[in-house]
Amino acid sequence: MRKFQDKTLLIATHNKGKLEEIEDLLAPYGVAVVSAGALALAEPKETESSFVGNARIKAHAACKATGLPALADDSGITVDGLNGAPGVYTADWAETPNGRDFDLAMQRTWDALETANAPFPRLAQFRCTFVLAWPDGHDEVFEGVMPGQVVWPKRGNQGHGYDPIFQPDGYDITFGEMDRWQKNKISHRADAFRKLITGCFT
Ligand code: IMP
Repeated sequence: MRKFQDKTLLIATHNKGKLEEIEDLLAPYGVAVVSAGALALAEPKETESSFVGNARIKAHAACKATGLPALADDSGITVDGLNGAPGVYTADWAETPNGRDFDLAMQRTWDALETANAPFPRLAQFRCTFVLAWPDGHDEVFEGVMPGQVVWPKRGNQGHGYDPIFQPDGYDITFGEMDRWQKNKISHRADAFRKLITGCFT
């Protein structure tokens, strides 16, 4: 496992929320952080069919463009009754001609489960993969998971994306009903973060 020993890390995201989360996490390690958004880097096409494949595309593209080590993530929800869909296409299920609509994406997910007559509980996992890449082409991969089930109707208005239909294992509330700090402690992203820190920053 390669340790991170540089001064500056490029975060290959244009998402302000993710950037802030990552900055907070890395604060104790004295790493200066810059974002792909701030450097106006082009967003590469996510053409792979796995989370790790797409995270690698983003990390290595950012690395090549700047000569800096870069961290990228890819995430989504995999639903057992849908053979792992929407998976890497989680955000795509929300696409409409007028932008992303996650109410529609959640409805599509539930409708697909009904059509498939999927058994209960309708098991699912939020997944997050981080790739830390260096300019010489080396990379390290960290995968996080939060198991749970898809529930209906939607509950709660906190969080984002598919949170209102995802009830994590061990809880009787959805991510949409959970406050942010609590979710951020147990989420798939937190799991991957912890592995990244243990692997490369400590
Ligand atoms: P990406 O990682 O930016 O490609 O986005 C993947 C998609 O997965 C997001 O648009 C969200 O819809 C969904 N997603 C990832 N993590 C979460 C989460 O913690 N809650 C709800 N939805 C999520």
